[in-house]
Amino acid sequence: MILPPHSLGILGSGQLGRMFTQEAIKLGYTVHVYSPDKNSPACKAGAIEWTGSYLDFPSLKRFLDTVSGLSFEFENIPEECLDFINDYSKSRDLNFLKPNALSIKIAQDRILEKQFFNSIGLNTVLYLPIATGEEDFSEFPMPAILKTTRFGYDGKGQWKFNSSDELKVFLRENPPSNNVKYILEAYYPYDYEISVIYARNQEGKEFIFPPALNFHRNSILDLTEFPAPIPENIHNLAISSASLLGKNLDYAGVFGLEFFVSGDELVVNEFAPRPHNSGHYTQNGSDISQFELQLRILTGMDLPEQNTIKPCLMKNLLGDDYSNSLQLCLELMSKDSRYHLHLYQKDEAKPGRKMGHINFVGKKSEVDKRFFNLT
Ligand code: ADP
Ligand code: MG
Repeated sequence: MILPPHSLGILGSGQLGRMFTQEAIKLGYTVHVYSPDKNSPACKAGAIEWTGSYLDFPSLKRFLDTVSGLSFEFENIPEECLDFINDYSKSRDLNFLKPNALSIKIAQDRILEKQFFNSIGLNTVLYLPIATGEEDFSEFPMPAILKTTRFGYDGKGQWKFNSSDELKVFLRENPPSNNVKYILEAYYPYDYEISVIYARNQEGKEFIFPPALNFHRNSILDLTEFPAPIPENIHNLAISSASLLGKNLDYAGVFGLEFFVSGDELVVNEFAPRPHNSGHYTQNGSDISQFELQLRILTGMDLPEQNTIKPCLMKNLLGDDYSNSLQLCLELMSKDSRYHLHLYQKDEAKPGRKMGHINFVGKKSEVDKRFFNLT
């Protein structure tokens, strides 16, 4: 077990690293974060910042030598970096790296991820790997979404096509290369999207939240409603799918697993091998947050037997109309203590950039209607 005041390492230094840092500092740990960025949200919350390339292995090694355990807030790192960290952790301590490198490797690559889901019996949308651009997709159902296999997030690296001719033109202009490969996914006409926040410790003890209902805007998460008002069979299927994934990865850590639902059918979309934006309701709608779970698993602290959850709505605040959003948040908070604002201290508000989120602990029918207009 890693006891306070030992040092913990996080790869990445954005808002998820920041919220991990906030939990870790409460318990007396020191947090070190590593990323190419300076003056990061995590550093402003008290983490010690290491600024360097993910491919600068001497610098990475000095960082790793400083900490007693390593976890991630950002998984989109080069494969060579992950291999380096994996080799390092094997030579040091079996429990150093959580989650394991295989889980990260699978989550990094949309094709590996879908193949793994299918191999353990989880349904996905129909897909076709596009490695050369010469693949025959004339029979592939349209509309379809082309995605880069790696490094995508918040809808980046995704294009929707209504016909195979449109797709052909795109691929002629943007052919796959050694660095960029694609996956073609059938557009899934879902009724709604849900996600499950799942945690599992090294000994295999699980901690699973009920599904949350997610609404996206421009492919970026906009609103989460917890718990999702969904039929019991879908609820159970989502939880058992998350558990199946966790067990098959021998997972140690927290992940967010996303699903599309149509009628009685549930398909798995993707998972993020770390706390997830759709799990921010755990900060105020649960006795324990997803970040404290990540901390407890990384340090080997036990997971709680009991937990109380409350209905909660989470709204993301983007940089598009930030000052107006902030003003409204402050007004809501001045009237009602069930609103909880979490800001990330990012240097600049840019369109599409996640600047913070606000949680409302209560039912959807009780929230101020203006909450939904926050952007
Ligand atoms: P990321 O979150 O890594 O950007 P996702 O695959 O989760 O990538 O895509 C973002 C959002 O785009 C999804 O939450 C969903 O709203 C929409 N989307 C992605 N893939 C599909 C699909 N095959 N069918 C329908 N909608 C999709
Ligand atoms: Mg997603």
